[in-house]
Amino acid sequence: MRLVESILTKNPCYTAGRKITVKGLMLHSVGCPQPSAQVFVKNWNSASYDRACVHGFIDGNDGTIYQCLPWNHRGWHCGASGNNTHIGVEMCEPACIKYTGGATFTCSDKATAQAVAKRTYEAAVELFAMLCQKFSLDPLGDGVIVSHKEGCKRGIASNHGDPEHLWTQLGLPYTMDTFRKAVKAAMGGGATAPSSVSGTKIMGAAVATAEQMEAYLKAKNPKVAQSVLDMVPLYLSEGAAEGVRGDIAFAQSCLETGNFGFAGSAVTLDQNNFCGMGVTANGLKGNSFDTAQLGIRAQVQHLKAYASTEPLKGECIDPRFKYVTRGCAEVVEWLGQKENPQGKGWATGAGYGEKIITILKAILATADGAAPAPAPAAVLFLVKVSIPNLRIRSGPGTDSAATGKFTGVGVFTITEVKNGPGSTVGWGRLKSGAGWISLDYAQKI
Ligand SMILES: [Zn+2]
Repeated sequence: MRLVESILTKNPCYTAGRKITVKGLMLHSVGCPQPSAQVFVKNWNSASYDRACVHGFIDGNDGTIYQCLPWNHRGWHCGASGNNTHIGVEMCEPACIKYTGGATFTCSDKATAQAVAKRTYEAAVELFAMLCQKFSLDPLGDGVIVSHKEGCKRGIASNHGDPEHLWTQLGLPYTMDTFRKAVKAAMGGGATAPSSVSGTKIMGAAVATAEQMEAYLKAKNPKVAQSVLDMVPLYLSEGAAEGVRGDIAFAQSCLETGNFGFAGSAVTLDQNNFCGMGVTANGLKGNSFDTAQLGIRAQVQHLKAYASTEPLKGECIDPRFKYVTRGCAEVVEWLGQKENPQGKGWATGAGYGEKIITILKAILATADGAAPAPAPAAVLFLVKVSIPNLRIRSGPGTDSAATGKFTGVGVFTITEVKNGPGSTVGWGRLKSGAGWISLDYAQKI
């Protein structure tokens, strides 16, 4: 999340100086074809602009969030009592739409318009997750996160249809319900580290070892067949071949097969189907594969279909690959349709992803007999800094001394993230050892 403070100090709403106790957040869409947040910031920062003032604008071109009022300042965003309780944030809209009356528009370039709306939606999710944490709000609580349209229905806002009118007419799967769930999911990681999606990424290198996975399985199912133990390393090799975390695939198999006991499972061991593939209704037997290796490969490919939009490296043997909306579940937590912001996913049951995470954690806590359980994966990511004068401090906070050095514009590696005064999203430690920077001014890449 890139957050730029750009307080509208000349706007009469700001100079009125009224504060509120923040009880909720209202999502708006600007209602005109202007993707640039800076255009609004510039026009509204004027003593003569006395019609409206909001807490933030989200840029349609790059997703940058411009904070225009202190968060607990009373805004003029919804024309009714919601101003006394809710923070108001506007998403900018694509340039290629043309309003033909009210909330109805035509669109000359649907793909671009959808990309803009997706970008602002995702940035709004991150911002609202941060604000919910900051003000201890429950994103799923009644009336906490509302759209302008919903605010009108509740009698706390004027009669507008934003922002749902935009998503509906662009054919996007977004609703305020998917939005609230996505905010909840973004908070689920607990961390305030900047990331487009919080959770356990399915793509990546496995953390658990084959020995840990085998030890876990033997502990859970002492009668497990030797043939099953022999195939455990295949999860890691098949996962690595496609860039999928093989330990996550294994944890999923433990869930789907009852730790390979197949009690109450729709599939049997001889089907070499360890993930319930093709069991799309009760009573169906599901797909079968010639060998265990092929069954695991199909599972890994199917996980990749959900977690990524990258093509497969190997030949596709997953008979159901084509049915997946590519990239709709980047993190394990979103594999369950109930928790997935698009309502898509591998399984329909509630908490599906969370169950896999619980198993994965137990595997990682299992000693493999040789070495202690590995430490949690180190934080390591790249950020882009676009301003020349980002100060480097000796510690994570404005209360730590400035080193007198600046990052300059460029890309930097962050090895640790900590909360500290003076930064909304956290402080990142530079890999170079030079010190810490506020991640408010850096964009994760
Ligand atoms: Zn509105």
